[in-house]
Amino acid sequence: MNAVPPNSASLIAALAGVLSDGGLLTEPQDLARYSRDWSGDHFGRPLAVARPSSVEEMSALMRYCHAERIPVVPQGGLTGLVGAAVAADGDEVVVSLERMNRIRSISPIDFAVVVEAGCILEDAKRAAEESDCILPITFGAQGSCRIGGNVATNAGGFNVLRYGMTRDLVLGLEVVLADGRIWNGLKVLRKDNRGYDLKQVFIGSEGTLGIVTAAALKLFPRPTQIETALVGLRSVEDAMALYARARRDCSDLLTAFELILRGGIEITMREGKDFPEPLGKPYPAYVLIEVSGGGLINLKDMLLSFLAGVENLVEDGVVASTRAQAERLWLYREIMVERQGRGGRYLRTDVSVPISKLADFVTDALFELGRARPDALPVTYGHVGDGNIHLNVVPPQGMKAEAIEHLFEQAEAEIFAVVDRYGGSISAEHGIGRVKQRAFLDRIDPVTLDLAAGIKDAFDPCHILSNGRILASASALDYR
Ligand SMILES: Cc1cc2nc3c(=O)[nH]c(=O)nc-3n(C[C@H](O)[C@H](O)[C@H](O)COP(=O)(O)OP(=O)(O)OC[C@H]3O[C@@H](n4cnc5c(N)ncnc54)[C@H](O)[C@@H]3O)c2cc1C
Repeated sequence: MNAVPPNSASLIAALAGVLSDGGLLTEPQDLARYSRDWSGDHFGRPLAVARPSSVEEMSALMRYCHAERIPVVPQGGLTGLVGAAVAADGDEVVVSLERMNRIRSISPIDFAVVVEAGCILEDAKRAAEESDCILPITFGAQGSCRIGGNVATNAGGFNVLRYGMTRDLVLGLEVVLADGRIWNGLKVLRKDNRGYDLKQVFIGSEGTLGIVTAAALKLFPRPTQIETALVGLRSVEDAMALYARARRDCSDLLTAFELILRGGIEITMREGKDFPEPLGKPYPAYVLIEVSGGGLINLKDMLLSFLAGVENLVEDGVVASTRAQAERLWLYREIMVERQGRGGRYLRTDVSVPISKLADFVTDALFELGRARPDALPVTYGHVGDGNIHLNVVPPQGMKAEAIEHLFEQAEAEIFAVVDRYGGSISAEHGIGRVKQRAFLDRIDPVTLDLAAGIKDAFDPCHILSNGRILASASALDYR
């Protein structure tokens, strides 16, 4: 159990004492930026914001917080969508990684980059490209999210089907533990079977087991060819049949396969004329396909002949002839994510089911949702190449806050019930945080919970790290 923290003046003085100049923020106007996440749905004013600039400072900070039982929450770019990185109001110290943002080393021979956890993903990707490599973690928030956040959430993105999730890309980690000790697992070895692979415990742990301060990540050769197409289809069934064909015909050159149902395209087109109808006429479903690689095969010819061979599935399509056109096609996908929230709050889900069941899942989930809440507007899209689908729900215009809350609860329960029926996951991507706790704990089996609680106790015995995330209670023991 937490001891009573020292009074704020002595706490602030002590925290400032372990950090270098400018490392501690306490003024309300300075705290605002660290108090609200990307979505604006989650808000919490921290006791203070600590911004260590080295692993040694981080270690000293955590040693003090551990000794005094000060609750802390690590924070990256605040783009996580489950309310995990904002503080519990007035109660926690936010530990921002933003001053630890250096690229420590990069090797095109090891195909590895060692990067500090506060580095913005896009900056790390740019550094990789300067070495003629790619860091393949790619998604809409890459200009804001940070490497530590990507590791802590096991981030996915558009290219998972070719390169895997962040977990598949981590070679090593450096982590400051809850008691301030530094765990140095920062290696770039491809093969290492010495005992337990401890880094795996931290990946996806949402800041509850340690503070990631640096990561060694796999790089890949920079593709010399990237080809992109947008196709229109009659149904999700046809989209998944197309996926099965693409997976075989394009093999590992297939790097993205993004499904967007018509509602999502309409949201992108809704405001202004900047996004016209992307194909000649509307279609129930769209897929963005990307193939990439180097070498001797002409990928444009390959993509065109692939599309010519699937005319029974594809109603219409366009293959980008320049990089600018390809980026424009991708914008239909990315702008939709922002625009669905223009009218206010909306329900986000990030579920997954086996790829073979995805079409049936979407049909059933949309049916159940429409039956329970015909007034709600579903927006459906996802990285379906890995079985992941976002089935979001936009409330009708003008609905009162309380009614929206009720709608979200009902809609989520309907969608999750169908996920359960198909043996899927209620969180394929964003994690549990605070938002999905109840649904997570309702479904967890006692053995998994017991092991998870044991891991939490072993890594953070005083429970000062990210309390109330994943395992809900300040004490994991409560679940035993
Ligand atoms: C427009 C948009 C698109 C997105 N698309 C995708 C997508 O395609 N795939 C996907 O997986 N996610 C996606 N996300 C979600 C989000 O971007 C990722 O979860 C991202 O990895 C979070 O990184 P962050 O730096 O913003 O972390 P934050 O939001 O700051 O933190 C997220 C969690 O990580 C913990 N944390 C942060 N830094 C550390 C650290 N150094 N050590 C330990 N714990 C830490 C926090 O405490 C919190 O629990 C998207 C988000 C947005 C807004």
